Amino acid sequence: MREPTAYAMALRQYDRAVQRLSLKRGIEEYLRVPRRELAVNFPVRMDDGSVRIFAGYRVHHSTARGPTKGGIRYHPAVTLDELRALAMWMTWKCAVVNLPYGGAKGGVACDPKRLSARELENLTRRYATEMAVLMSPEGDIPAPDVNTTPQIMAWIMDTYSMQRGHPVPAVVTGKPVAVGGSLGRLEATGRGVVVTTREALVQVGRPLEGARVAVQGFGNVGSVAAVLLHAAGARIVAASDSSGGTLNPHGLDPGALLRHKRESGRLVDYPGGEPIDNAALLATDCDVLIPAALERQITAANAERVRARLVVEGANGPTTPEADQILEAAGVVVVPDILANAGGVVVSYFEWVQDLQAFFWSEPEINERLERLLVQAYREVAATAGEHGTNLRTAALIRAIQRVAEAVMILGIFP
Ligand code: NAD
Repeated sequence: MREPTAYAMALRQYDRAVQRLSLKRGIEEYLRVPRRELAVNFPVRMDDGSVRIFAGYRVHHSTARGPTKGGIRYHPAVTLDELRALAMWMTWKCAVVNLPYGGAKGGVACDPKRLSARELENLTRRYATEMAVLMSPEGDIPAPDVNTTPQIMAWIMDTYSMQRGHPVPAVVTGKPVAVGGSLGRLEATGRGVVVTTREALVQVGRPLEGARVAVQGFGNVGSVAAVLLHAAGARIVAASDSSGGTLNPHGLDPGALLRHKRESGRLVDYPGGEPIDNAALLATDCDVLIPAALERQITAANAERVRARLVVEGANGPTTPEADQILEAAGVVVVPDILANAGGVVVSYFEWVQDLQAFFWSEPEINERLERLLVQAYREVAATAGEHGTNLRTAALIRAIQRVAEAVMILGIFP
């Protein structure tokens, strides 16, 4: 069976939630589509003197609740369709945790592993210049996503600042702390995954201590979640990256995994575990499965093999709507992306607020505020699921769509 595209998935999820709401028809249609999209093709001078043309994009889904916020992805598979979905999910994510933002996403179709540091900087600075018509601290504030790092955010900030003639740290989040980044931002998404995992385990009546966890994707989100869950007493039984994975039912040490990945670039040959492929990782015998790589990993073709009691979506869009139904029928609880991985945008919001007021908070303060906000959001979503008799994804969407629709109604139609 052909899997739906990411945007088709986002629309299916939206339609399912909207059925439970009595939105005006105009609003229902308005929120199905992005507010604006920018597509650019731009040249980059390569180290060997040649010139290559890259395609870059930025999609704004909604501006009803505030400036748009969303990451920038560098990946060969970046398309406008994928970014439309990711931008829409950002709108719902910001609304479900009640941040004053709309959703956006951007990206460049490229393979950063094949670019030198200088080529990556040239590409980033040119992309940032192309996007400058949309970007600003009041209008659209990018952040990191797959394959984009604090250093890349610093280049974006510097490019924008050079064009303005003065430093503008609030134009982008996820920067290094030395140039106006926030303490705790690097770990924030993984930390949020841990908070929501803990809340969900309480709901299904299982302790975090000793819970067996499998993590797909060992980048920013997956590795931090693994390290923090391990520190909280959970057992990481499997982990994978794009090379494949490693399994050890007695438990893996995520710190050692990270060191191995740093040295060899891949997890599959980690000496403390048995090599597995990504299909086996998703079917690992465990209590909690954390997909933290890319979209559409748990599908109609493999959902029946998931043996976890809980799926906590570190990645955006890892579960297709068909897979959602299969998991629900099997009694697997799915903590949806827009709630489970919202920790990143929450601390990005804190970073933006700190930059705007030029006054910075301590790391414990940031982690405490993050935890409070996510626990509250989780409990509100769980209560909505109870009221409407839905799963957590539809409940999170119901809350988010209601908030955005209310803003749209209050603002009215211009002119
Ligand atoms: P990253 O680039 O740091 O890491 C991605 C990881 O996924 C890498 O380890 C890569 O090897 C692995 N991977 C890629 N394809 C894979 C495959 N087919 N199977 C298994 N592993 C694979 O990216 P990240 O920032 O950790 O983002 C991961 C996911 O989390 C994305 O869906 C992203 O949109 C989402 N997310 C990120 C943030 C953030 O703050 N970074 C916030 C919210 C959501």
